[in-house]
Amino acid sequence: MGLQWGLGKKRKWRETAGAATASRTMDKEYVGFAALPNQLHRKSVKKGFDFTLMVAGGPVLSTGESGLGKSTLINSLFLTNLYEDRHLPEASARLTQTLTIERRGVEIEEGGIKVKLTLVDTPGFGDSVDCSDCWLPVVRFIEEQFEQYLRDESGLNRKNIQDSRVHCCLYFISPFGRGLRPLDVAFLRAVHEKVNIIPVIAKADALMPKETQALKQRIRDQLKEEEINIYQFPDCDSDEDEDFKRQDAEMKESIPFAVVGSCEVVRDGGTRPVRGRRYSWGTVEVENPHHCDFLNLRRMLVQTHLQDLKEVTHDILYEGYRASCLQSLARPGARDRASRSKLSRQSATEIPLPMLPLAETEKLIREKDEELRRMQEMLEKMQAQMQQSQTQGEQSDAL
Ligand code: GDP
Repeated sequence: MGLQWGLGKKRKWRETAGAATASRTMDKEYVGFAALPNQLHRKSVKKGFDFTLMVAGGPVLSTGESGLGKSTLINSLFLTNLYEDRHLPEASARLTQTLTIERRGVEIEEGGIKVKLTLVDTPGFGDSVDCSDCWLPVVRFIEEQFEQYLRDESGLNRKNIQDSRVHCCLYFISPFGRGLRPLDVAFLRAVHEKVNIIPVIAKADALMPKETQALKQRIRDQLKEEEINIYQFPDCDSDEDEDFKRQDAEMKESIPFAVVGSCEVVRDGGTRPVRGRRYSWGTVEVENPHHCDFLNLRRMLVQTHLQDLKEVTHDILYEGYRASCLQSLARPGARDRASRSKLSRQSATEIPLPMLPLAETEKLIREKDEELRRMQEMLEKMQAQMQQSQTQGEQSDAL
């Protein structure tokens, strides 16, 4: 299949290193720092990348049971069947179904770069007749991953931490509503301080271009009115080339991305094969930017912003959680979850978030004490060794 997805700008580190060696012979002042990025690049390529993506969204119609096309889109995005083992419950069973959290993993390799993708799905969300608080398991799941990371980070073996934190949540919005529904607002409110949200309008082939634009505007207005923070794209670096800047601006304007997914590759009148949905009147091409924003979403998610999504998760969302845990340790009175303030990129450390249970906290402190004690022992040993070799040196000098 001619369909491909890329992993950002690939640097040819070997060539650059060769160039550095050549310049060393010419320039006596050369120290070698110029090759530092190559070392980092090599190390991360060796280690591989991991990324955890959550998909969520209620049913297409408030009264209906049809899916929003989440699994189809994910398979289209990553050109893999992540849902092979999927079991779909009957429509009647869905009405009483509660939300479950399912985790699936796949390792994708492209051009020697490995990505371990974990997909977190939320089947059953919004299906049940009674949807009150149905998003709570999702909130709990996201917090549990933070808690696990905090525990691992505070433990002894910090080198091999498995990062299961959710780096991004693709939130699917129905194309048939007049914007966000109360269930969407409630869900987004519950998670927006814990995960990077990227809203998408599902099954966008159901809308005409004008309708798509109107729905996008309505959703943007609602997000603003409801003070829901979605993922903020960082500003483009001024030294980026014009093409990159244009693509970046286009991407930002596309939000919420109006997407179409398809697991079929169709051939129209003997032309090139394309991933698309064939109708009696024509074919909607998934990767045609005139038909939908699929390419923009994939470019953003895979090529340009995967690392930033991870960094925001670590530096802002997780840091907010960690800071609040530490605050709770220092001030037992700061446990009131109702007094949570809003998250902003600037004030992550001011946010009181849920604290770990007391037993966990004590365990953490014990582990920290133990780690400190070991470090102290190691230091003492090193000092003793240094003293010993110094004395030996002095003795041999005297001889
Ligand atoms: P999920 O339950 O949210 O994972 O939804 P599925 O991916 O299983 O899709 C539900 C149905 O919608 C299937 O019949 C898909 O073929 C169809 N579907 C998926 N994506 C699209 C799309 O972009 N447009 C249209 N019209 N139908 C879609």
